[in-house]
Amino acid sequence: MRKLGPIMDVRVRFAPSPTGFFHIGSARTALFNWLYARHTGGKFILRIEDTDKERNSEEYLKVIYDSLKWLGMDWDEGPGVGGNYGPYLQSQRGDIYTRYVNKLLSEGKAYEKDGATWLRLEGERYTEYDDYAKAEVEKVKAAPVVIEDIIRGHVERAEDRDFVIVRSNGEPVFHLVNVIDDIEMGITHVIRGEDHLSNTSKHVLIFQALGAPVPQFAHMPLILKDPAVGKGKMSKRDKGALIEEYQTRGFLPEAVRNFLCLLGWSPKDDREKMDIAEVIRMFELTDIMKGSARFDEKKMLHLNSAYLRALPVEEFVAGAKPVLAKAGLDFAIYDEAALADALKLVQEKIFVYDDLPGYAGFFFTENYAIDEKAREKIGKKDDIPGRIAKLIPALEALNDWTDEAIQNCLHKLGESNGEKPYAFFGVLRLAVCGSGGGPELHPILRILGKERVMKRLRAFAS
Ligand code: GLU
Repeated sequence: MRKLGPIMDVRVRFAPSPTGFFHIGSARTALFNWLYARHTGGKFILRIEDTDKERNSEEYLKVIYDSLKWLGMDWDEGPGVGGNYGPYLQSQRGDIYTRYVNKLLSEGKAYEKDGATWLRLEGERYTEYDDYAKAEVEKVKAAPVVIEDIIRGHVERAEDRDFVIVRSNGEPVFHLVNVIDDIEMGITHVIRGEDHLSNTSKHVLIFQALGAPVPQFAHMPLILKDPAVGKGKMSKRDKGALIEEYQTRGFLPEAVRNFLCLLGWSPKDDREKMDIAEVIRMFELTDIMKGSARFDEKKMLHLNSAYLRALPVEEFVAGAKPVLAKAGLDFAIYDEAALADALKLVQEKIFVYDDLPGYAGFFFTENYAIDEKAREKIGKKDDIPGRIAKLIPALEALNDWTDEAIQNCLHKLGESNGEKPYAFFGVLRLAVCGSGGGPELHPILRILGKERVMKRLRAFAS
């Protein structure tokens, strides 16, 4: 394990640029910063890198705030919260950047050329007069910049030693403002995506020019596409790439957050569903994997279903109601107890709330669709009209409409027909629920009530 520096008050930041989307990679970056802050008792700072004015809007900012809140990541300093190192929007920090640039210029550590400001390598201004200085500068120039990254280890990168820090239109470049803010905000650990590793050599040079200590860097592995979908880096067009999608599909935020924890980090055993407090307790930057993380939609769905199953039924019902309403399904035909009874049956079966209308819609409407594929399949081995004709009188004769009585009735029907006890189940389910499979049948019939079941059977037969 690599050693971290001396114990200090950890200050980490999430520094998104508002683009209107909240990508899963950004969410993971935010999360790992947040986890580290919570693990160490440090501070998690939200800083908005909104210098690209064209892409900047309140609406885009809202996407960031809402996504973080949805995922349960609270920030200790930043927009809406305040703090001693604000403002926390780069667009409001212009004066600070000017002050730093002037300092560099006055110390001869920067110079102007073609209207732009360039970073100047230490000692370079003496080279005109001094051959020794010139040789030293050439040596430094030829040497790579060294980064000791907590995740990547020892990294060396060749870097031009002088580069533009303020464009000729007066705008400071990303590298400069990013570093100034990290200095000003006292950032101890820069935890961000591996795509920024190539910028880091420039950042190190700027920290050095400004005489500031270089923070610890931790560059996290890329997130690759689900192998079932393709190869390469996950892009924002890939399914599952945007946090918004999880919100609209009815994922539970705790499940999404749990899934994100496992994109590059693991508890080193087989556990997947983990309490966030436990992740916070265990989380170390040194345990983040170096190799790329793979998006795995199946795993995400599996985790979500595990979280759904673990919900108290009232919470499951509360979450289900808006989804049903949106699908035009009238859950008010049941009282709360019956609704809970119905939904309990599907709580174990669905992966996301989005599955609910398709999976359990028949509880709430007489206009449920009949799955034609299932009809065809059942029809191949069963005489569907014949079975319906036997089911109607058998169920009609049943006065005691309980799970047990219904089950006995169906078993008897099968046996008296010289068949297995469940011989009539498939056709009955198809007629009453429209599907070839689903939750246990007797409670479904009980909850629907005799009247609706009989009506459905007759309608199906006609
Ligand atoms: N604003 C940068 C981004 O959105 C983050 C830079 C950083 O974390 O240092 O990727």
